[in-house]
Amino acid sequence: RELPGDPRSETTPREVLHACYTRVLPSAEVDKPQLVAWSESVAELLDLDPKEFERPDFALLFSGASPLVGAVPYAQCYGGHQFGMWAGQLGDGRAITLGEVVNSKSQRWELQLKGAGKTPYSRFADGLAVLRSSIREFLCSEAMHSLGIPTTRALCLVTTGKLVTRDMFYDGNPKDEPGAIVCRVSQSFLRFGSYQIHASRGKEDLGIVRALADYAIKHHFPHMENMVKSESLSFSTGDEDHSVVDLTLNKYAAWAVEIAERTASLVASWQGVGFTHGVLNTDNMSILGVTIDYGPFGFLDAFDPSYTPNTTDLPGRRYCFANQPDVGLWNIAQFATTLSTAQLVDDKEANYAMERYGTKFMDEYQAIMTRKLGLRKYNKQLISKLLNNMAVDKVDYTNFFRSLSNIKADPSIPEEELLVPLKAVLLDIGKERKEAWIGWVKSYMEELAASGISDEDRKASMDAVNPKYILRNYLCQSAIDAAEQGDFEVVRRLLKVMERPFDEQPGMEKYARLPPAWAYRPGVCMLSCSS
Ligand code: AMP
Ligand code: MG
Ligand code: MG
Repeated sequence: RELPGDPRSETTPREVLHACYTRVLPSAEVDKPQLVAWSESVAELLDLDPKEFERPDFALLFSGASPLVGAVPYAQCYGGHQFGMWAGQLGDGRAITLGEVVNSKSQRWELQLKGAGKTPYSRFADGLAVLRSSIREFLCSEAMHSLGIPTTRALCLVTTGKLVTRDMFYDGNPKDEPGAIVCRVSQSFLRFGSYQIHASRGKEDLGIVRALADYAIKHHFPHMENMVKSESLSFSTGDEDHSVVDLTLNKYAAWAVEIAERTASLVASWQGVGFTHGVLNTDNMSILGVTIDYGPFGFLDAFDPSYTPNTTDLPGRRYCFANQPDVGLWNIAQFATTLSTAQLVDDKEANYAMERYGTKFMDEYQAIMTRKLGLRKYNKQLISKLLNNMAVDKVDYTNFFRSLSNIKADPSIPEEELLVPLKAVLLDIGKERKEAWIGWVKSYMEELAASGISDEDRKASMDAVNPKYILRNYLCQSAIDAAEQGDFEVVRRLLKVMERPFDEQPGMEKYARLPPAWAYRPGVCMLSCSS
């Protein structure tokens, strides 16, 4: 690595200046660590033989207690804006990279242990992770991947056999919980904050921003090396409406545009599937445009644009479901500012990257919603009326779209039977609301007829984009409850179900059910950052 490193390797919390990383060894204590679950598809990515998971020392290796041959462990330095405020240095406070694996397809995958002990970036915290949050991260990484959403992956989850104390602030009492470690896998864990931190430290460190940009481009955006891209664009500049500007993008500007676009696509895919990240701080924004850092996330049950799973996000709801597209733009603006501070892009290029975020988001979001409805053409009015109806009647987001493919474009269906295919998802709807829904279904059926797609073809394509199974918070919680009692079967079964979210999976229907009453207790649907 040519990147500047921290010469000191001990873990005293400190400001690490002029460096991108610190060499540090995993140090979490273990006592008979156990393998809870592992992902076959991630093992395959790494060319790992399934037999490796049966090794008696597997959990020792993946808790960091025994060193992996060839590993060069380190923790990264990064900063970030938390809830809109610059927070200074954050860094890998409990994540330790073991190294990179180059697989038989020449792909480079970084392996990182989360919860493996203190680093110089641990600040006031213990460097550890609990089983509860590790199960959530492990399962959701793999569930998102199977939904087709870019994400960091999770190879395996081990318990440490040691207890970790956590403040569960909704009841005020600290609690001892089982410790655990997830092995996360990604082509890169670089975040917007990895760049921000160096730009924030003044002129002297701007060269580091450039070195880290060159590093990322070389390893992760190789198609952009030596690139000069010519684009003409039109965008509004204040009062003058549409001025056409010719831009020759240098490689850093082209890179910023690509990151903006990937981020826009990512957020659009979250909106499509009803995923709320919960903590979209700039340190949780991947430069690869993958979902990173699963904390207090949640999938929508009843449709509610203001849903936030994160108690720390109340009452402001900065990171609620409907705000994610705007927050993505705000975060891209911070990243673009960083690049312009380091003089890698000029103001025009920075604005252009933001402009492209907006355009890409709208294009992707409209395409996703159009596919969810099984249509060929985007129909703004139809979709906004639908979302409005869903919000008024608190309709389950996932199950509604899954049921929608049962509607047939048959004009002979009498009005009183129009809602029959949606009966199971339109519960407790009063007479007045029934009319609103019948009105909507009628206009939907007109669109279906105009699309010329057969009912069977449409059902097949809709069922391939509207999942039957999503990782609802209460499902995570039932896996956590069992695992805390030493039963890891529920985690393993949920993983299997969530690996095939679009398949019917006969016998597994209970995993598509709405949350039961107990799910509304604190800590199940509402979560904090304490993990
Ligand atoms: P997050 O809200 O999970 O994105 O974390 C924000 C920052 O806090 C990051 O720098 C994390 O590495 C750090 N952090 C979170 N939990 C811990 C922990 N238990 N020990 C040390 N650092 C932590
Ligand atoms: Mg984080
Ligand atoms: Mg976290």
